[in-house]
Amino acid sequence: MTATETRSVEDWTAVNAELARASPSEILRWAIDRFHPRLTMATAFGLEGCVLIHLLAELQADVRVFNLDTGYQFPETLELRDRIAQRYGIEVEMVRPEQTVEDYERAHGGPLYVANSDQCCYDRKIVPLRRALVGYDAWITAIRADQSSHRAKAMTVGWDSKFQLVKINPLLNWTRRDVWAFIVAHRVPYNPLHDQGYPSIGCWPCTKAAGDSQDERAGRWAGQAKTECGLHSLDSSQL
Ligand code: SF4
Repeated sequence: MTATETRSVEDWTAVNAELARASPSEILRWAIDRFHPRLTMATAFGLEGCVLIHLLAELQADVRVFNLDTGYQFPETLELRDRIAQRYGIEVEMVRPEQTVEDYERAHGGPLYVANSDQCCYDRKIVPLRRALVGYDAWITAIRADQSSHRAKAMTVGWDSKFQLVKINPLLNWTRRDVWAFIVAHRVPYNPLHDQGYPSIGCWPCTKAAGDSQDERAGRWAGQAKTECGLHSLDSSQL
């Protein structure tokens, strides 16, 4: 761990204590006051991301929001981007890999999402994400602690040593019920696939409907041990 990271871990312990009872809106306010305009947000247009966009529209609508557009997203997801723009005036930036899906699959003799999904996620999500975060001091994500045992280890604010900037998770302590209640109360636009049995929505080749499963990550990389694409992998500096 570098000196910068060590100092950050110590600093963030106090900040997390300070924000322990803060609402998502208050956490965003804190982040905006501290980091804007070097603050950005990544969204896959999940339910939680839509809630955060709604809050940013109220607090600071010019925070740059981006989506990692792998080329494999559902049409419903892409259409949601337009509905968000109409509702909030926030144009989510689409960050794309250098190669189109056609060029990528041609270069690899076919799609990699079955044979080597880790490589596919790395090439089409992680590499573009690294590029998208250059020049920013902090990024906002929409993860919640109760989505998985892995995400339960995250902090509200911490140093992200993987991407070398501060990571802020304003909805970390919300439940899925909290998220749905907010969406209904505020008529927040959301992906219609959630009403068709998809608890979590990623790329179409790696996402299936999960029926009544209580596991929110069910349906993602079904049949594989994989549960994360690598964006939210934690290391020791974040625990
Ligand atoms: S989720 Fe699937 S299609 Fe999307 S980048 Fe990862 S492996 Fe590729």
